[in-house]
Amino acid sequence: MTVATNCEKRSFTYGKKTIEYQLFYSKRKTLEIAVHPNNTTIVKAPNDSEISLIEKKIHKRARWILKQLDYFQQFTPKTPERIYISGETHLYLGKQYRLKVTQGQENSVKLSRGIFQVSCSDEPKPELVKKLMKKWYMDKAKIQFNKSFERCWPKFNSMGFNKPSISVKRMQKRWGSLSEKGTMMLNTEMIKAPKECIDYVIIHELCHLKYQDHSSEYYKMLDSFMPDWEKIKHKLELSMA
Ligand SMILES: [Zn+2]
Repeated sequence: MTVATNCEKRSFTYGKKTIEYQLFYSKRKTLEIAVHPNNTTIVKAPNDSEISLIEKKIHKRARWILKQLDYFQQFTPKTPERIYISGETHLYLGKQYRLKVTQGQENSVKLSRGIFQVSCSDEPKPELVKKLMKKWYMDKAKIQFNKSFERCWPKFNSMGFNKPSISVKRMQKRWGSLSEKGTMMLNTEMIKAPKECIDYVIIHELCHLKYQDHSSEYYKMLDSFMPDWEKIKHKLELSMA
């Protein structure tokens, strides 16, 4: 037997808010309401349920739905996709700077007087601006991550570890890692976060010199070097969203 499942987009108002949800009918006995991290609300109802009854039940859970949506909201990107044109803003060390694209003598990127000034020797195209910005970020990441490393290292220097070397790379899923050979990989993207967030990732990795896992001993060590690391980690996650 096949179970017919159909989906309907519906909404209702609760106070001043409009809550949108997707309603699915299926062969089930009870109504289920779920809010997903991508900010969608899914309602699954038994095949023969009356819409008025479904609405009544959702209404009863409205406060809960809003609370869930509110919770997931903090993790959704605040910044729209960058298209590399004048006027939009780009991040550097936790601050937003406006982008100004012009045609000039040569290809260059300068952050001066609070503005990202990108000059293209040819007609400015977004792909070229993107490429130039990427290179600029990479250069700055190498400089700033090394500075951060030198800020953090003295705390570990007296403990007898070999000083790791730094490698900066674009990574999809992590901020940093430490290899057994002593290479600390750091994600270029972190250059967009505040300096203390970069320090946090480096201290996190340096603590792995002693403990390779995330055991309670590991966290005890991290706590002692950076007591407010949780707050800073959260800041990093929010600023990169
Ligand atoms: Zn770790």
